[in-house]
Amino acid sequence: MLGVRGSTPAPGSAFTRYGGNTSCVAVLPGDGDAPALVLDAGTGLRGLGGLLGDAAFHGSIVLTHLHWDHVQGLPFCPALDRPDARVDLYLPSPRPLETLTRVMSPPHFPITPDGLGGAWRFLTSASRTIEGFDVTVAEISHKGGVTLGVRVERDGRSVAYLPDHCPQAGCEAAAELAAGVDLLLHDGQFLPGEQAMADAYGHATTADAAAFAARCGVRRLVLTHHAPTRTDDALDVLAKEFEVAREGDVLVP
Ligand SMILES: [Zn+2]
Ligand SMILES: [Zn+2]
Repeated sequence: MLGVRGSTPAPGSAFTRYGGNTSCVAVLPGDGDAPALVLDAGTGLRGLGGLLGDAAFHGSIVLTHLHWDHVQGLPFCPALDRPDARVDLYLPSPRPLETLTRVMSPPHFPITPDGLGGAWRFLTSASRTIEGFDVTVAEISHKGGVTLGVRVERDGRSVAYLPDHCPQAGCEAAAELAAGVDLLLHDGQFLPGEQAMADAYGHATTADAAAFAARCGVRRLVLTHHAPTRTDDALDVLAKEFEVAREGDVLVP
């Protein structure tokens, strides 16, 4: 887990143990090779270099959606932004480069995506084999534009990643995507007492996430996309009831 925070980074001494970077997951191949598949590109993406040593990234990034907390790391990871990098970036848009350029161009940002170093391709998300993994994507309920859930499978092991998902909206595609997975990384941004806010922003409460995981028959639920106000101490309390993602965690499905 390279970033486990939702909405905006959470710097400061109250957030050091669980980490303050926004959503990013490196999928490790399990054979000691460098990671070549990354899910989301929040500020946690900056930590990818630590997994690559001095090497450039050669691989693919699958974005669930284009909200800031899922893309802001893109121009800030030196392993991606160098002449010998090779990056396939998958976005939920029929015009991926044009859509990304809307959030990444002056006056919002100094450079456009084609200003990144290396060989970048901007591709429309689809269910397919990516970097040796079977990747399935499906549109799920959230707010503000198309949002995908992602399921990754290889060698009989499966992970579903739904960092921004409103189970209260009753999305059948999300349930199909997560059905029976070994590991579900799910939106746990709000507490049950914050249900109205979760619904309004298209997110989940921890209770929503648990009910969704039970409905899908997942083997293990890990909550992620923590609210930027959720301190380490508050997450410790949550961790008595749930498994809670921490930046730097290596989760084996
Ligand atoms: Zn988010
Ligand atoms: Zn979002």
